Amino acid sequence: SDDITVIADGISVVKACGMIGREVEKITGVETVSYLLEKANELHKSIFLLGCRPEVVALFREKLACDYPNIVIKDLVNGYIEHKDDVFRRHVAEGADLVFTALGVPNQELLIHKYFGEAKKGIFIGIGGSIDVISGAKKRAPKFFQKHNIEWLYRIMKEPNRIRRFYQNNIKFIRDIRKLKR
Ligand code: UDP
Repeated sequence: SDDITVIADGISVVKACGMIGREVEKITGVETVSYLLEKANELHKSIFLLGCRPEVVALFREKLACDYPNIVIKDLVNGYIEHKDDVFRRHVAEGADLVFTALGVPNQELLIHKYFGEAKKGIFIGIGGSIDVISGAKKRAPKFFQKHNIEWLYRIMKEPNRIRRFYQNNIKFIRDIRKLKR
């Protein structure tokens, strides 16, 4: 649909695009979110976030006040509450210019998919762990890992239980694309 933009935010998406003959550059979630915050600040736009741990939300709130003072905060709600659907739906109805979900893949995308049709405005985006990094709660992988496209390896080393998801979202994903091509 014209309403949807796919951002190649990881090396597996970049590779998959290459396999179907489209050269794309990787743009990370951190870069995309930083850009959107920059623009929202310039244009005095509003934000609603659902996701992240409570302490990350608190850090992000400080970051907004400090670095993006013109952004109107509709609400910042941590991603460990009950009734996420209800909270999300209510805010979709009220409307914000930036609507961020940070609940991990695929829950953040599924939630957007469910209620996007009810929205009157806004850029909706599943941002994964971007705010964990932007808020300063988590460090990005060192430059070496970034340069060699192995940030995923750093993340697995830091959080070994990511290995399962890495397999699903990357190894299996690439294999599926290869199958589609044949
Ligand atoms: N998260 C959340 N609620 C949950 C699970 C995850 O708010 O029930 C948040 C988590 O704190 C993090 C973000 O979702 O800020 C992304 O999670 P993760 O890094 O696991 O996902 P990825 O970015 O790898 O998709």
